[in-house]
Amino acid sequence: MPKFVYDFTEGNKDLKDLLGGKGANLSEMTNLGLPVPPGFTITTEACRHYLAEGKTPDGLTAEITAKLTALEDSMGKQLGQADDPLLVSVRSGAKFSMPGMMDTVLNIGLNDDSVLGLAKQAGGNDRFAWDSYRRLIQMFGKTVLGVDGELFEEALEEAKHAKDTTDDLDLDADDFRRLVETFKDIVREQAGREFPGDPREQMDLAIKAVFDSWNADRAVLYRRQERIPADLGTAVNVCSMVFGNLGMDSGTGVAFTRDPASGHQGVYGDYLQNAQGEDVVAGIRNTVPLADLERINADVYRQLLAIMEKLENHYLDLCDIEFTVERGKLWMLQTRVGKRTAAAAFRIACQLSDQGLIDLDEAVHRVNGDQLAQLMFPRFDAKAPKNQIAKGMNASPGAAVGKVVFSSEAAVEAAARGEKTILVRRETNPDDLTGMIAAQGILTSRGGKTSHAAVVARGMGKTCVCGAEELDVDVKNKVIRVGETVIREGDVLSIDGTSGAVYLGEVPVSDSPVVQYFEGALAPGDGDELVQSVHRIMTHADAARRLAVRANADTPEDAARARRFGAQGIGLCRTEHMFLGERRQLVEDLILATSDAERVTALDALAPLQRADFHGILKEMDGLPVTIRLIDPPLHEFLPDLTELSVKVALAGADASEKDRRLLEAVHRLHEQNPMLGLRGVRLGLVIPGLFAMQVRAIAEAAADRLAEGGSPRPEIMIPLVGSIQELEHAREEAEGVLAEVGGGVEALIGTMIELPRAALTAGQIAEGAEFFSFGTNDLTQTTWGFSRDDVEASFFSRYLDLGIFGVSPFETLDRDGVGRLVRIAVEEGRKTRPGIKLGVCGEHGGDPESVHFFHEVGLDYVSCSPFRVPVARLEAGRASV
Ligand code: ADP
Ligand code: MG
Ligand code: MG
Repeated sequence: MPKFVYDFTEGNKDLKDLLGGKGANLSEMTNLGLPVPPGFTITTEACRHYLAEGKTPDGLTAEITAKLTALEDSMGKQLGQADDPLLVSVRSGAKFSMPGMMDTVLNIGLNDDSVLGLAKQAGGNDRFAWDSYRRLIQMFGKTVLGVDGELFEEALEEAKHAKDTTDDLDLDADDFRRLVETFKDIVREQAGREFPGDPREQMDLAIKAVFDSWNADRAVLYRRQERIPADLGTAVNVCSMVFGNLGMDSGTGVAFTRDPASGHQGVYGDYLQNAQGEDVVAGIRNTVPLADLERINADVYRQLLAIMEKLENHYLDLCDIEFTVERGKLWMLQTRVGKRTAAAAFRIACQLSDQGLIDLDEAVHRVNGDQLAQLMFPRFDAKAPKNQIAKGMNASPGAAVGKVVFSSEAAVEAAARGEKTILVRRETNPDDLTGMIAAQGILTSRGGKTSHAAVVARGMGKTCVCGAEELDVDVKNKVIRVGETVIREGDVLSIDGTSGAVYLGEVPVSDSPVVQYFEGALAPGDGDELVQSVHRIMTHADAARRLAVRANADTPEDAARARRFGAQGIGLCRTEHMFLGERRQLVEDLILATSDAERVTALDALAPLQRADFHGILKEMDGLPVTIRLIDPPLHEFLPDLTELSVKVALAGADASEKDRRLLEAVHRLHEQNPMLGLRGVRLGLVIPGLFAMQVRAIAEAAADRLAEGGSPRPEIMIPLVGSIQELEHAREEAEGVLAEVGGGVEALIGTMIELPRAALTAGQIAEGAEFFSFGTNDLTQTTWGFSRDDVEASFFSRYLDLGIFGVSPFETLDRDGVGRLVRIAVEEGRKTRPGIKLGVCGEHGGDPESVHFFHEVGLDYVSCSPFRVPVARLEAGRASV
């Protein structure tokens, strides 16, 4: 039988899978000799068993009893013992930190008897004991018994109101004693049962509630958003209580070992005297900056700083911590490698390497492509006029503009209508998660950088300004007042998560400094610390990576931008985009041609235009490979819509033009039930004489022109949607004929896309006719799964995500098991036939961080992605190599 319960002295930080992040780190701190209240952790394995079987595994209860007894022996008192109770907290803690999980239940072990014992042990501090007791009933009622937490809050507010105060410090022992009775009544009415007085029953129910919270709606939602697997389960930590609410010499706080926004070293955190647990992040009273702790208790302050330094040197990274001071003694209650902004991730990685704590390889690992993508978001235009109405904390960077909404629901509804919103709250709580996901940005009037809104927004990479205290946010009446200004739902605000500024109205946005650096408009030396950090990390990643990175670009402008962003060629130049706009007419003529002569005329009209397009692109990418895909989509895409045209012709009746009639006839003729699987790609080339030849000629002539101008064009001609070597051979023969005819010393590789399962499975044959393969993973995903990207995202994907059939859409991240297997087969067999064959990928996946790692693993030569994703792919290719 596996071991289900670990004492804090038995675990370590590498056991996160089993003990969860919180449990593993509590053990690690215990082993480091830091002051952690003793306790034990119930494994995620026990949770998984419970969730799967509906009951706890055999032996778990006995193991818990054994660990509890050991804890009781070491503390010299028993759980809930009437004259001197041991109290514990029951805390959830999954492998990944999840703000969507169950709240912690503190003070377990209190009941009508032990509350008196606790008071006595605390030197007759009745207020403390009854405050602790009412907290237990409140937390237990809400999180274990499912009672609406508002009811307790209201009763608490009433008690304060009766005393004409808003400060919980003004409540005394009698007030709390009465509240305990009220809270018990609430539990009885709402939960239909008595609040359980038996300490062990309290603990066991709380443990089960933590297990169950794994499947709570908001936890499920958070996991999906953060792409955390649904089957990990959570651990449960049982930790002996220490008390920050014993008086003004006690308190509780949170801190970072360095600034999570800038990465700079210093003293960052919040502290609250005479308080317990979540008080410090819940905005109940105003916290003081951590630096003030020096004044309150210099000894504790010094100890804390020493511990923070020890943690940084141990974890070699920024850590965040939760601590409590009980009558002048410091206790550590949590630590973990802290969440940080994207900018801070780059700065911290470089700072740590400068401090000699990590090397540059490790620094490259400490950042990722998603973070880099975030840094490329636009900013507010510095020169634009702005009407600043408030300033809060710069909690999570970015520039967000949107209409004000006051509730999660409103944000979700607006998002469904395609509207951008700013979610404005006094402070957020886990119930606001859906709204935070739906909104462009989050603005709160209370709370610091460690508040719920700030932590969650940073985790999601969402713009957030918090603690903008000038704003009087009235959620009930849906208005914000600031001085004379009144802002209502629907009014537009712009918030700057980098500076904390809040502007009325829409502020225009401009390029980020990181983009300016990639554009070459900002030299690394001229940039700030962030730009320099990005430069150092990118330089190291570029030197390390094996994969080349190309761009998908169809115009000279895109090609030029991609090249500035570091693209080493074009992996996909789509030619159909060149047939749009005014050229559509020429394509129509081609489709309507009824004789060879008409067809030739139409093609002759298109040829010089294509030639000019290719010339421009080859020029921008001079010296680098440019893969040009011959026309791929079904021709009807260039014709008017069937219904619209039918209506037009029908309405015109006898007056309908000859051209419209012919068009309608053509639309009917070309109509297909499954155009995606119809007359497209190489099939078009083989069916419509002269079409591919015209394109190849345009490529060859453009390349010849470039040669004549002294350039070095490197065109690669790509035949799409090939399923058999015979198709490729026909197309290839035609192309080679044209190349020979044009002459002029032009050399062009001829290759194909692998985007049909049959192509992947017969890649060994196809490689005989192909000098390169480019995996078209969009089509390969569609054809492997047999569903159409254009339709399924709206119809059944969300259900599939709910059911866990996908963790993430296979169009976003390559499906390794299925599509990836085909890629592997094609790579292996293609290389067997033609060892030097060039292999790349040009689907959307080429810019997706996880997929890039896969392409590195299977040994492709390059990935190709949209110009803006090129830096992301470069970084991820580097990370895959170091
Ligand atoms: P979360 O995952 O939401 O951070 P925690 O389990 O860390 O929840 O608990 C929240 C807070 O409750 C802690 O930061 C700490 O202040 C308080 N807390 C938890 N366990 C104890 C304990 N054994 N003694 C004192 N305070 C505790
Ligand atoms: Mg919490
Ligand atoms: Mg915590």
